[in-house]
Amino acid sequence: MKSRRFIRFWRGITAVGMCLLAQATQAAGEVKHTISFPADKEQVFLVRSEFPVSMPVTELIMPNWTPGSYLIRNYAANVNRISARSAEGTVLSLKKISKDRWQVNTGQAETLVVDYELFTPTLNVSTSWASREFSLINGPSVFLYTSQTENLPQRLNIISDEARGKAFSAMKPVPDDGGFLAESYDELVDSPVAVARAPSYRFTHEKQDYVLLNVGENEFWDGKQAALDLEKIVAATQSFWGTNPLKRPYWFMNFIVEGKGGLEHDHSTVIMTGRRQMLERNNYIKWLGVMTHEFFHVWNVRNMRPLGLAQYDYQREQYTNQLWLAEGLTSYYDNLLMSRAGLITPKEYMELLASDIHRLETTPGRLLRPVDEASLDAWIRHYRPNSNSLNSTISYYTKGAVIGFVLDTHIRKTSKGRHDLDEVMRKMYSLYANEPYDSDAFERIVIEIGGDEAGSLLRSLLTTTNEPDVDAALDWYGLELNRGEILVTGEADEEPLKSGLGVLWNDNKPEMVVKSVLDGTGGMVAGLMPGDEILAIGGERLTKDNLDSLMKSFTPGEQTGLIISRRGKILNIDITLDSAIPDRFDIVLKSDFGKRDIRRLQSLLGQDPS
Ligand SMILES: [Zn+2]
Repeated sequence: MKSRRFIRFWRGITAVGMCLLAQATQAAGEVKHTISFPADKEQVFLVRSEFPVSMPVTELIMPNWTPGSYLIRNYAANVNRISARSAEGTVLSLKKISKDRWQVNTGQAETLVVDYELFTPTLNVSTSWASREFSLINGPSVFLYTSQTENLPQRLNIISDEARGKAFSAMKPVPDDGGFLAESYDELVDSPVAVARAPSYRFTHEKQDYVLLNVGENEFWDGKQAALDLEKIVAATQSFWGTNPLKRPYWFMNFIVEGKGGLEHDHSTVIMTGRRQMLERNNYIKWLGVMTHEFFHVWNVRNMRPLGLAQYDYQREQYTNQLWLAEGLTSYYDNLLMSRAGLITPKEYMELLASDIHRLETTPGRLLRPVDEASLDAWIRHYRPNSNSLNSTISYYTKGAVIGFVLDTHIRKTSKGRHDLDEVMRKMYSLYANEPYDSDAFERIVIEIGGDEAGSLLRSLLTTTNEPDVDAALDWYGLELNRGEILVTGEADEEPLKSGLGVLWNDNKPEMVVKSVLDGTGGMVAGLMPGDEILAIGGERLTKDNLDSLMKSFTPGEQTGLIISRRGKILNIDITLDSAIPDRFDIVLKSDFGKRDIRRLQSLLGQDPS
């Protein structure tokens, strides 16, 4: 409690201080940004920004990262042919002074007009993309700011044509103008814009408006059905939180462009997906899962934020050890809310949970790095993976989701079903929706609702490498985990145990090339390295086609020889084979599964599991 009062006090002081400062130095008016497209090249935006200025020297700054995606991307590297002038056309001298800043001698000018070409090198949910088919503007990778104009309203106009299509965004539209108006630079860059000829599907839930925009919709997509399913996700999520922080229509911006991932914003999300994503049930569930995840973020991480992300600093890395909560628990709830919305069956839910547990338990790095530390290392590990990542770290998404399941079950079990993690989340939101939370906040509420033992369990799961006891948690629901040591394709007893090398394969190569070697395996001891091509095992030629049958012909623990190619040189290596890493885990009903278990599962999944 003490620390929270301190934060509130400190924030109060800062707010007053900032106000005075703003009055002293902030230029009046608004910043105007205009984006157009060159006729003669692709992947380029022409950007013009007009800043009111009140000082003889102005510094222009380009962000280095996009909030929500913890990686320094150095957007200034895409700025070309930059020039500055006054509104009257007087050329102003402009000089680069650091990797992300330019200094302009604005002199007596009242308006600084800056023009530049912005190259868009990659298509993903965090950055921008300019093309004739469709364009995506993610503000941090496009717009310059100055410290004097950051808090001013920002106007945006897009000069498009019939072929490129209209501009869509969750920002406030300006009537008759076709443009948008944001209250500040923060809002501008938190409001992605799609420029496309794309169908949109609108629905309303409890007086709140929603839009699904399907950029790149094709014959394999049923936009109406997707919008109906999204409406169910919205209903389940709004009912989960019991309060709605949205102030204007929320946009689901769905880019059907063979991309992957999603990024959360206050009033929208950008997700990228496959052209045939809706055709196959499992792929469609993945898409629904990403949509649920991003929408859940409106509450968990956009409105309710860890202290380390309270105010975005677009130039520098910002650290928090709470991404297991912001991302991991969001991952726990995206699956649960799909079930509570009736979009997936209990069996499908259990497959998703088993897949999270499988991913966690087949990652050796879980034994090396606690998840709170993995969160602090997001910038240097999660977003910069290498061939050793599996051995050296654990995903705060995966482990956070499994911790969510184990902690939720513990609270339900010890309170005899009177309390649960949902209640913790809602209490957390009621206290921290408008004020960033410190790193002990969640534990305090867990203790308040679930008791001291729940608090100790959480602390141990976050700060040590102790394994979450998923078996005990599943047992409380009358379930158990089949870790797939024995292949059950035929008679379980007769199926030989498959052996393995302890490596992951590089799927992008047609040859059998090692991507990673897992710690504690025969492959590691034998000296295999990422990049090695394995040509033969025990004198037999190894190919993608015969991998499974060949590995079944050996017994785990058996010694054999490998022929490998390493940087063009042929080597012979001796290896002691391991048991193969199972492809999947399965959650199955225990033999005494009964009515009590059905009641417990019904309370968790929001539907009858029988
Ligand atoms: Zn997320």
